[in-house]
Amino acid sequence: MYINGEWTDAAGGAEFQTINPANGDVIGSVPDGGAVDAERAIAAASAAQASWAATTAYERADLLMEAWRLMGERQGDLAALMTREQGKPLKASAAEVRYGADFLRWFAEEARRIRGEWLPSARRDQRFLSIRTPVGVVGAVTPWNYPMSMLTRKMGPALAAGCTVVLKPAEATPLCAKAIFECFHDAGVPAGVINMVTAADPAPIGEVLTSDPRVKKLTFTGSTAVGRLLASRAAHSLQRISVELGGHAPFVVFPDADPVHAAKGAAALKFLNSGQACISPNRIFVHRDHAQAFIDTIVPRVARVKVGDGTHEGVGVGPLVNEAAVAKVAAQVDDARSQGAEVPVGGHRLSEGGLERGHFYAPTVVTGVTEEMVIYREETFGPVAPIITYDDVDQVIAMANDTSYGLAAYVYTRDLSTAIRAMEGLRFGIIGVNDVNPTSAAAPFGGMGDSGLGREGGHEGIGEYLETKLAGIAL
Ligand code: NAD
Repeated sequence: MYINGEWTDAAGGAEFQTINPANGDVIGSVPDGGAVDAERAIAAASAAQASWAATTAYERADLLMEAWRLMGERQGDLAALMTREQGKPLKASAAEVRYGADFLRWFAEEARRIRGEWLPSARRDQRFLSIRTPVGVVGAVTPWNYPMSMLTRKMGPALAAGCTVVLKPAEATPLCAKAIFECFHDAGVPAGVINMVTAADPAPIGEVLTSDPRVKKLTFTGSTAVGRLLASRAAHSLQRISVELGGHAPFVVFPDADPVHAAKGAAALKFLNSGQACISPNRIFVHRDHAQAFIDTIVPRVARVKVGDGTHEGVGVGPLVNEAAVAKVAAQVDDARSQGAEVPVGGHRLSEGGLERGHFYAPTVVTGVTEEMVIYREETFGPVAPIITYDDVDQVIAMANDTSYGLAAYVYTRDLSTAIRAMEGLRFGIIGVNDVNPTSAAAPFGGMGDSGLGREGGHEGIGEYLETKLAGIAL
């Protein structure tokens, strides 16, 4: 753990192990912290808050730029660690390191653009001045699927705004979090400004972060169930809240689209990170005129994907995070099959040829998916592409919107009006138009409905860590 500028053990002295999901090897151990450690970290963050807030935006920007530079310099080692601890192929890990580092650069730039306003008054002898100030100590909880970029997407804007941080990383990926904290430490971030508590059981840390009056904001990325729980507790404490939660992205192929191009896009997007992404398509709507061409393109591409340990050359899909994830994916596919869906490729676990000790599920395409199937409603978080054939173009946006989630949506069309109507009609925070990567440090990321509250990245990202303070000045 990292508290008040020092690497430290848990107060109780316990540790827990972190495991390689590709082969079950133990790759390290970290302190198993509890409520006492979280309180110690909050005390350090609280003590450092005033002096950190008093630094200039230029000083904070310089530190963030140095941490960005260090992440770049260490890209190879960071990617290798991520692949061992989280499982994604090396190339994807390196891409995540670059994406994660970019939040530090972006928010270093944004730090210098925090500004106030002179506002008009109805009185001749009065002036109004509004300024932006840091909210204070931030409690942050992050997931395992993007174990480095989800940290920098929160810590970048928090630090740029002048907030101090107590972070609890996911129990599956504490070493990735430790490596990012090493970058901040080596960049020279002052003691107490950033703190990290690792724990095998997240619940006691979550309770402290959402009830301690010194914590002014909660930022969380993870499942909707846990996000709802933490947000409700944080609401009781009147903390500010940002929660980035699950998704169930529709991917709509319109009749005027090129079905081969769309199928290539879907294949590239769906199997990233073994489908363990909150913006992964979970319902692929293909117009009946295109269904055959789409399926004929995606199935052989999926059949060719090499599955295995992400450190091995040519591997495109790595393991799932644990056995429970494999069981969930298998149950969804079995349910679809039992209700008449077809599975032209995949549809089973992989446990032979060197994959015995890992958590692998074959990249899968399911066709003939209907509303009654579990996969039509529940997030899969696995390497399964569910295809729904539709007839009525006027109905497909309503079908896409028929979910409680609202994070990402994708449309394929060559018609400008269709694209604009779709973008306006879809109730989602992020929309890819003929684009399978609609994310960037410079762009606001976040969802509607059960996908969460708030935005990360973009100009919006830093606003989540700022208060507005007004002065009315009588002359
Ligand atoms: P999770 O909710 O189980 O865990 C996320 C984090 O919350 C982990 O750090 C975990 O330790 C912690 N946590 C769990 N219970 C807690 C408690 N009671 N108190 C405090 N902390 C607690 O989710 P997960 O399985 O790790 O992540 C997958 C989910 O995250 C998916 O649903 C996915 O869609 C979502 N996700 C969303 C985004 C986004 O930006 N919207 C990004 C990545 C992942």
